[in-house]
Amino acid sequence: MKKGKIRRRDFLKITGFGAASLGTGLTASRLLGLTDRGEMIESPNEYGPFVVEKINGKSLPYRYDTQTLQRMSEKNNVFSRNLWEPVRIEAMDQTEDITWKNLIEGKGENPDQTRLDYAFMAASWHMYDVHSYSSYDWNTHRGMVREMGLDTLEPWNPADINMTWLDASRAVKHAARFYGASLAGIAKLNPLWLYSDHHSPIQTQRDRALPVHYGGERFERTKDSWYIPASMNRVIALAFEEDFYAIANSPGRLASAATGNGYSRMAFTAATLAEFIRGLGYRALPAGNGVGLSIPMAIDAGLGQLGRMGLLITPKYGPRVRLAKVITDMPLMPDKPIDFGVTEFCKSCMLCAKDCPSGSISEGPQTWKGRSISNNPGTLKWYVLPETCYDYNGFSCSNCKRVCPFTKPNNSWLHRLLRKIIQGRITPANKLMVTLDQAGGYGRHVPDRDFWKRTGDKTITGRESM
Ligand code: SF4
Ligand code: SF4
Repeated sequence: MKKGKIRRRDFLKITGFGAASLGTGLTASRLLGLTDRGEMIESPNEYGPFVVEKINGKSLPYRYDTQTLQRMSEKNNVFSRNLWEPVRIEAMDQTEDITWKNLIEGKGENPDQTRLDYAFMAASWHMYDVHSYSSYDWNTHRGMVREMGLDTLEPWNPADINMTWLDASRAVKHAARFYGASLAGIAKLNPLWLYSDHHSPIQTQRDRALPVHYGGERFERTKDSWYIPASMNRVIALAFEEDFYAIANSPGRLASAATGNGYSRMAFTAATLAEFIRGLGYRALPAGNGVGLSIPMAIDAGLGQLGRMGLLITPKYGPRVRLAKVITDMPLMPDKPIDFGVTEFCKSCMLCAKDCPSGSISEGPQTWKGRSISNNPGTLKWYVLPETCYDYNGFSCSNCKRVCPFTKPNNSWLHRLLRKIIQGRITPANKLMVTLDQAGGYGRHVPDRDFWKRTGDKTITGRESM
């Protein structure tokens, strides 16, 4: 082995070393050594207590088969199917009623929830409900960028102020954090992650899906097609932390409040970041769940890895995040994808699969084939059944996030140690630590009354104190 090279089996030794460094309050990014695929980094600011392998070149922390993988139809995702597929529309009628009926009649999965919880949940979704469609617009129409004519000037060149494109990329990620993202990363856009069509939620258009063309020079939405030019080959992936204590209330309304709060912040931040990029003279297409698959884009941008539960697992917040993105032609420098041992850990953990009330999460090995038309085959992963997930109180359930060992905030040295030890490879010691963590109460449902006893000093805005 070359000097400075670290093999994956040496992860554990390194993590033990890293734990000691964290205890001294070290916060700067530190190169621990080189691996066969890249470099081992410790950076508490970026990755919390984890040691992370940054992957160089064309390697990725997942495998996909170019013969099988196709761009997915947006019409086939479960949210779209709930609008056009008769069997899904019928199933929607059977799902739990989240409205005043449950509140007044004391029914539903969580009959003890009060108006305080319902009002809190409903308000959390407000900015998303009211503004998301206008936020995710493709061009600037009004506001200061348009009034100042910044979008009509020549594209900004960082060299004009003695900045490099690496500096400019850092500035764009800084802006994303300033506007509200918890995490931001940049990837070269893989067109396979774009939806092949756009399915409209508008009632009169639900039987249609407009083809989405990628390539050429056209950047336009017409009534028949969407056109995204090949020059828009960068994506800025954004993650928004969800409140730990509200997620712990899953499957209650407070977990939905955490989700809705994430959706509302997604719309605000993606729209604002897009406007910033347009003000620099580049194209920007902001999106929440639409336009393409946010999770693989976020993985490519180095925000995390895919877990058994089918969600992105980030080093800092685990799966407790919502995702958005901005696709652009601004020639930003891509970040490197990361591996911090999630796949290996999920092979043994299975807590989410065992605690899923609808049996939607696979307890088997990773596969190449999906189990539903809402799965897109061709990637080696655990395919989740979105229909059964949605039909089980899909509006509020986050049980899988609640129990996942990666979800827990860094609030004790013990958990820091656990996070250090679990990465890289599964050993009996890892399983024991998870068991001890669960026995200590972590992952249990937090009742509404307990949530409201809190002061809010450890909400997402106070996260550094957690
Ligand atoms: S949200 Fe709930 S029902 Fe859906 S996969 Fe997670 S635990 Fe299962
Ligand atoms: S609960 Fe366990 S198996 Fe499920 S995603 Fe989290 S770490 Fe992986």
